[in-house]
Order: sequence, then C-alpha cells, then structure tokens
Amino acid sequence: MLQTIEFNIQNKLLTREALDAYDPSAESWQKQFARRYTHHCELNDVLNNVENVDQTVYGKFAVSITPYVAQLMDRDDPMCPIRLQYMPTFAEETKPGFVTMLDQLGEEGDTVPGTSIVHRYPRRVLFLVSNACATLCRFCTRKRMVSQPTGSVHKDEIERSIDYIAANTQIQDVLLSGGDPLTFSDERLDYILGEIRRRAPHVRFLRMGSRMIVQLPTRITPELCAVLEKHRLQMVNTHINHPKEITPLLRERVKVLQKAGIMMGLQTVCLKGVNDDVDVMRELFLQAIEMGIRPYYVYSTDMVEGAHHFIVPYQRMLELYEGLRGWISGPAVPTFIVDGLGGLGKLPIIPIYVKEEELPDGSGTTVKCRNYAGKTVEMPGLGRDYALPTHSN
Ligand SMILES: *Cc1c(COP(=O)(O)O)cnc(C)c1O
Ligand code: SF4
Repeated sequence: MLQTIEFNIQNKLLTREALDAYDPSAESWQKQFARRYTHHCELNDVLNNVENVDQTVYGKFAVSITPYVAQLMDRDDPMCPIRLQYMPTFAEETKPGFVTMLDQLGEEGDTVPGTSIVHRYPRRVLFLVSNACATLCRFCTRKRMVSQPTGSVHKDEIERSIDYIAANTQIQDVLLSGGDPLTFSDERLDYILGEIRRRAPHVRFLRMGSRMIVQLPTRITPELCAVLEKHRLQMVNTHINHPKEITPLLRERVKVLQKAGIMMGLQTVCLKGVNDDVDVMRELFLQAIEMGIRPYYVYSTDMVEGAHHFIVPYQRMLELYEGLRGWISGPAVPTFIVDGLGGLGKLPIIPIYVKEEELPDGSGTTVKCRNYAGKTVEMPGLGRDYALPTHSN
C-alpha cells in the first residue's frame, strides 16, 4: 500500500508546492483526470488536519479528487464546504438505528431489464450512461453504481438502452446521467447522442446531468461543445453546492457551453454544514442566474449509506425556501425536492402561503394568504362558494 502511494506521489504532482503552482487550464483534462488523489493519505501531503479514516471507508465508497478541486479546499479547516463534500470522514460510519440503503430511490426496480434506463415517469427516461465521475461526492445518491467495480455500464447495455428509446415512441425526454456522462470521450458521446437523434426522432428534449464543470472545468472544450451542438443537446444541469465552487475557470467554461446554445440548470444538494444557510443559498443562486444558469432543484440529501450526517431536516428545508422566495429574484428560486423512498419519485417541499378554510357559519370557505414577509390577508372571493365544474383528462 505504502509503496503505491509513494509511487503515485512521484508521478501525479501531488506535493503542496506543486499543487500551489499547478494551472489546471494548462493541461489536458485526461491528464488531469489521471492525477486524481485516490486516498486520504495522499492528501495528507497537501492539506492539514486530514482525518485518518480507516480502510473500511474505501470498501463502501472510493475517494477520488481532482487537483483542481484540491486547490479549492481550505488547507487547514476540515469544515471547509469543499472538504466536507469530498474528504472521507469518521462521520460516514453508519449511525445505529438509522436506515440507509444503497438503492434508496428504488431505481433498480424501475430499470428496464438489460438496459441502464430508469423509466419511472411518463414520457421521459433517465439514461445512466457512465459509472465514473471526476471527483466523488461523499453523499452521492448513486453509490451503488458510481465507482463500484460491479456497477460498470457495458457497451451492450448502452446499445440496448438506445434500442429501447428508439422503440418506445412515447419517450419525449431523455436525461443522460450516471456517474458523469462527460467522463466519456467526445467520440463516444458523439456516437451515443447521434444514435439517439438518428433512431429516436420522437425525442424532443435531450439533456444531461454533469458535475464536470465544477470538478474538472477544462473538460468543457470547444470540441466537446461542437459535438453537443451538432446533436442539439438542449440542456446541461450541473451541480454546485456552494459559492466557493464558482471560480473564474468555471465561469469561462459556462460561457463555452452557452455559446453552443445549451441552456444550463443548477441542481444543488441541501447539505448540513455546507449550504443549510439562507445567506449561502441566496449568494449561490444569485451567482448562478448572473451566469445564466437557472436554479432548478434543491434536493434533500438521500438516505444513502454514509451520508446521514448531511441530511437537513424537512422543517429546516422549508425555512430555507422561505428565505429565498420573495427575497431574491424569482428566477433564482429553485424547487425543493425530496426523493421518496423506494421509488416514489420527486416530491416538492413547498411551504404553505395560501390555504382554504371553512367559514364558521358553514356557508362556504375563505382563503387565507401569507406573503414572504409574514403579512397576511384573507380573500373570501377565492373560496369555494360555487359548485366546481367537473374536469375530464
Ligand atoms: C429526476 C428524474 C427524471 C427527470 O425529472 P424532471 O423532473 O423532469 O427533471 C427522470 N427520471 C428519473 C428516474 C428521475 O429520477
Ligand atoms: S458528481 Fe453526482 S454522480 Fe458523481 S459522485 Fe457526485 S453526486 Fe455522485
């Protein structure tokens, strides 16, 4: 073990001085990908106060950190929002009495046999193309497949997935995810997107989830964007959890994606200690819309193995939402979501601003409203004072 680490240190530019001098935009993304730190001992050389977690952590979920992400980490503070997201800690030990699951979203149950397609909702599918990411998040919802040797997506599976999309003409929306689809080469992406467009003209919306721009921004090249543009990839949803992740390099590569006509959305995971704070969220979402990235979802941390310490209680999520709605630009306010256990799917977490109540005399109802600042008004005219027309779908 020690020997491999020493070998890596010599070859991967891991020393503190080298990292300080390292310019991530001066090297190809593939080379940078190969320079990832894959053990906390390697980071001992770069950061102070690294927890000496035991080897069992690695059996549950691997460690992988690009030099770019390591540069963003606070050298001394283990509570740094970047370190919390990526450094393994003792807190990952399963909490007694707490239910954690590897497939807490029941995705396996909704997977089309023989493919890597999760078909849960009408007219749209989730296509899990890759099982790798540039940097591994400790709270990853797909630990069951991401970085697990058994979870690789086979070429045949990808072929059968494209067959499924082509054969089911009710599918209007395909969401490529993983892992991170941008771990694939431009050629491979060209092939997959091209086949979907060629064989499934019924697909109206083609989008991708990727955290590359946050973890290895130089993956976003003009060549990649030419491929995405050629196949009319309409949207890239990225995943930023803290304003500290928004760097000049990230901003520059966001523009490259946007020049290719790609709409960008932001998905954030609500993480205790990282962003469960109104000021942090306001700043994050404002910076996002300033760049032309629309805050889309804030997810509750899933009940995945080793992530329980990140879970923000439901009541706190309501408070966070209330700290945004009305207080910052409307387009900067995302929808808060909890993914229901066992495959229930996405459920919006919405505070009640408007509610209908029975009138005391039983003659009908009134509607009581509360605004973002806590002012209230009653709107009896909105109440149920007439027979509702019946609708048919
Ligand atoms: C999130 C998700 C989608 C996409 O949902 P949208 O609300 O349309 O963004 C599709 N399929 C699965 C299984 C998902 O989890
Ligand atoms: S980028 Fe997404 S899929 Fe990859 S490790 Fe992080 S949460 Fe998981």
